[in-house]
Amino acid sequence: MSLPPNDDLAAAIRTIPDYPKPGILFRDITTLLGDARAFGRAIDALAEPFAAAGIDKVAGIEARGFIIGGAVAHRLAAGFVPIRKRGKLPHSTVRVAYSLEYGIDEMEMHVDAVRAGERVVLVDDLIATGGTAQGAVTLLRDMGAEIAAAAFVIDLPDLGGADKLRGLGVDVHTLVA
Ligand code: AMP
Repeated sequence: MSLPPNDDLAAAIRTIPDYPKPGILFRDITTLLGDARAFGRAIDALAEPFAAAGIDKVAGIEARGFIIGGAVAHRLAAGFVPIRKRGKLPHSTVRVAYSLEYGIDEMEMHVDAVRAGERVVLVDDLIATGGTAQGAVTLLRDMGAEIAAAAFVIDLPDLGGADKLRGLGVDVHTLVA
């Protein structure tokens, strides 16, 4: 099946200037999520390259990565792994510090969320500097997972995150730049 171009997906994403702070153009996917056709197309297009890739788990990054990743996991008949901000997961966790635009934060995953050798697709709504995704890659690899790819609805190529992930040997799949 060949998918149509992604112009309609770009049109379904709303841009909010100066949110959450001056100078940031916030790419708001709630408009895409609320449009059944665009949401379905985005999930199909994110999952399609991995349909026959033997994916065991989809890992989604809090919070918008949960919405996209859960749907992609269902599409791939894979399990779902939440990667959360520090202190939100109830069982024993592994933790990594990751860099944000200003400063650092920590993210966690349950110790038993992936098994060594499992093939995982990492999913988030958007990749900017790549610091968040890089932290998630570190967590997953430390637990022995094989990162089959990282998939994002939106790439901000000027910020270099996708290239940073490729430099770590991660195959990167994005829909809209
Ligand atoms: P980064 O770690 O710089 O790649 O930032 C990616 C994370 O921050 C993702 O979880 C995004 O949801 C969020 N993010 C960063 N920049 C934006 C933006 N301009 N619009 C919406 N979300 C953003």
